[in-house]
Amino acid sequence: MEPVSLENCEQLVRQPTSDSLTGSSNVLVFPKVPEQIAHRKASLSSKVEHFTESVIREMTRQAMLYGAINLAQGFPDFSAPAEIKRAAQQAIAADINQYAITWGAKSLRQAIAHKFKEWQGISLDPEREITVCCGSTEAMISTLLAVCNAGDEVVIFEPFYENYGPDAILSGAKPQFVKLHPPETPGGSWTFDEAALRKAFCPQTKAIILNTPNNPTGKVFTREELELLRDLCLEFDVLAITDEIYEHIVYDGERHISLASLEGMRDRTVTINGLSKSYSVTGWRVGWTIAPPAISNAIRKVHDFLTVGAPAPLQEAGATALELPRHYYQQLAESYRERRDQIMSTLVEAGFHPFLPRGAYYVMTDITAFGFSDDIRFTEYLVKEIGVAAVPGSSFYHDPRDGARQVRFAFCKRDQTLAEAARRLERIRR
Ligand code: GLN
Repeated sequence: MEPVSLENCEQLVRQPTSDSLTGSSNVLVFPKVPEQIAHRKASLSSKVEHFTESVIREMTRQAMLYGAINLAQGFPDFSAPAEIKRAAQQAIAADINQYAITWGAKSLRQAIAHKFKEWQGISLDPEREITVCCGSTEAMISTLLAVCNAGDEVVIFEPFYENYGPDAILSGAKPQFVKLHPPETPGGSWTFDEAALRKAFCPQTKAIILNTPNNPTGKVFTREELELLRDLCLEFDVLAITDEIYEHIVYDGERHISLASLEGMRDRTVTINGLSKSYSVTGWRVGWTIAPPAISNAIRKVHDFLTVGAPAPLQEAGATALELPRHYYQQLAESYRERRDQIMSTLVEAGFHPFLPRGAYYVMTDITAFGFSDDIRFTEYLVKEIGVAAVPGSSFYHDPRDGARQVRFAFCKRDQTLAEAARRLERIRR
């Protein structure tokens, strides 16, 4: 038999046949794969060689393995609001158990549009501008897959939520990182250098990913900073993809501002959000994108073939969640403010130098004082010997050395969980 080239192989696979059952004339046939090709096909996608599985989620497995308190992965260990759990139960009982419309149940899309108008002053067409996904995680990757081509660049502030790196790689884009510098004074803010940001933009820049309130730093971007981003997006014709999943978790009088609400950004922003953090239901996997019709259309195509749709009954419960009154969000922020203050004093007493977060439910801290060689050794020691799991700082940086002196603690936990973590952290070696 003649050696088969890949082109020949393609022809073989795509060969039209006539199907006696359907009468269709373009059915895929699967010929026996010649040995030399089978060998070549045993290797994996080169894309996946450039990243590991999530370290955040690995730390949850480690916490379970060593019986440690999990202050690593950001999920609450307390109950979700009773009314939304009831709404989910009722939706299942009412037999909303089949696929929803692929881009989202109408009731949820209407509730998202209503809430966005109320909180950000932006009117949306729920039929053409909202796509419900399996969590904001899928919303982000579907967006990047929908907009990026090979050779495109995506600007990402660093430290960054670890998904963004692999998301960029999987979508074929090249990430360009811009450093956020830790505060120099105890209550100060993380800052970036305007010149460094400008330098990251170039004709190949397709998009910037912005996460505000920010994971892992707790930074809440100010209006002035957002205006600067807006000006660069307009100058370089760049799309903004904003992850606003912590929008309701802000402290000290900070205000979350959606980039889409700034003049000129409505048509060049994809706003990503979800139920997970605002309603303490990270396992439900319901998130969404808000984007102009042409971009939504592209996102919907990717989403359709990736997942078909998010869980139907939980989307109905999501519509109930989004109708909760304003004081629900005030209470949510206030309860997280108390937890933040609790963990800040725990960390200071244990010898850390934490950076005060102004939003989201994580605290990044310096670990230099403990004298460990790096963040990985330190988190290993913490989980195995102290019984507390944290995330090594390097998982939020492109170059692991940049995070070698930092770790992240999540404080979305019950008082007693945080109190037990405090007791354990007292035993830390100094
Ligand atoms: N956002 C959470 C964190 O940073 C985890 C999200 C996830 O694991 N999907 O810990």
